[in-house]
Amino acid sequence: MWFFSDEHRMLQDTVRQFAADELSHCVQQLDEEEDFNEEAFRKLGPLGLLGITVSEADGGAGLGAVAATIAMEEMGAVDASTTLSYLAHAILCVNQIGVNGTPEQKEKYLPKLLTGEWIGGMGMSEPEAGSDALGMKTRAVLSGEEYVLNGTKMWITNGPVGDLFYCYAKTGEDRRAVSTFLIESEMPGFARGKKISKMGMRGSPTGELIFDNCRVPVANRVGTEGKSIGMMMRNLDLERITIAGISLGIARASIDASVQYAKDRKQFGKPIGAFQQIQERITEASAWYEACRCLTYTAAQMWDQGLMAGKDAAMMAAKAKLQSAQMATQVALDAIQIMGGYGYSREFPVERYMRDAKLMEIGAGTNEILRLIIARQMLGTVVDL
Ligand SMILES: Cc1cc2nc3c(=O)[nH]c(=O)nc-3n(C[C@H](O)[C@H](O)[C@H](O)COP(=O)(O)OP(=O)(O)OC[C@H]3O[C@@H](n4cnc5c(N)ncnc54)[C@H](O)[C@@H]3O)c2cc1C
Repeated sequence: MWFFSDEHRMLQDTVRQFAADELSHCVQQLDEEEDFNEEAFRKLGPLGLLGITVSEADGGAGLGAVAATIAMEEMGAVDASTTLSYLAHAILCVNQIGVNGTPEQKEKYLPKLLTGEWIGGMGMSEPEAGSDALGMKTRAVLSGEEYVLNGTKMWITNGPVGDLFYCYAKTGEDRRAVSTFLIESEMPGFARGKKISKMGMRGSPTGELIFDNCRVPVANRVGTEGKSIGMMMRNLDLERITIAGISLGIARASIDASVQYAKDRKQFGKPIGAFQQIQERITEASAWYEACRCLTYTAAQMWDQGLMAGKDAAMMAAKAKLQSAQMATQVALDAIQIMGGYGYSREFPVERYMRDAKLMEIGAGTNEILRLIIARQMLGTVVDL
């Protein structure tokens, strides 16, 4: 993007190199085996990427949403699964501790999370509360110096491998009485449920978290009791901007693969790129990708410059994520079509791109929920959400 700083460009080169060296050689195999590239993940620590948005004073890289989105795009172009796990760690868990944690919580947890010694995740969704996140049923009840948690979190990225989870639970009867807890995987009453087998993002482990009278010290509550919704929504906005970077990466890889194929593959005595219908798919894909790139990085830049707050931030983040996600799925599908039978085969990565891209239309707010957020901001109370 034209406004990237020298620091952003250096970061882009670093992450691109990391993806080429550490992710590309095994991404296909890990997708097949549904296995996590833990070794590469931990190497993100020494590169300073695991606390990309955490302040330098707290040991992080002190960068912002633009930088985080660059990291997502560059890694996402090679291995969207590892990138999704990275996002859950760096944006959903570590960033939240950096922004909302007490000095003691930061001192206790950030060093392990920033080096990659510990893997983090975030627990909001539940079996019966997805889009309606405030319908969550997990309860935390204060008992002396501890909270006792009961409930189940569902679809948690890094659930099967994580050491610390930034989790939400109800602490009152009011629908909005949501509190946040830092939950270690070794705490009594915590258990991992089943690992979920998925269509795409297969290299990113997803699972359930089960709290069965899980005892969490009061010192592990983040923020004021019952007042977590603001922090939760603010992080969802940042998640939507940065996760759009993964969509951009997948789309770019799809376009690169289809352009190369359209030059190489000959039919009727010509490269298939000579046919106007193939040109139309490639040019439309490229234009849509560039449009989404402008929208997403503009949202990230506005975030970094403090130009976005409240409902405006929610709408802008929703627009960037909605368009980029739909674009990535369509562009990956087009790449399959351009590559014909080879596109449909597992010999080429574009079928994986399509499977990975589809998650972008579901996680961090489905397309439908994002449209509701945008509509509510544009039409006001006419829209019921
Ligand atoms: C691979 C993966 C990783 C994930 N990682 C995490 C994680 O780390 N942490 C976490 O907390 N969650 C995570 N999630 C959960 C994710 O955020 C939810 O899947 C998502 O919010 C949708 O919830 P749901 O699956 O329960 O679908 P539902 O909410 O049940 O929706 C089903 C369908 O109904 C539609 N719908 C629902 N409400 C409305 C409405 N009001 N108007 C119109 N349509 C509507 C939806 O758009 C969707 O099409 C992950 C999910 C996946 C698949």
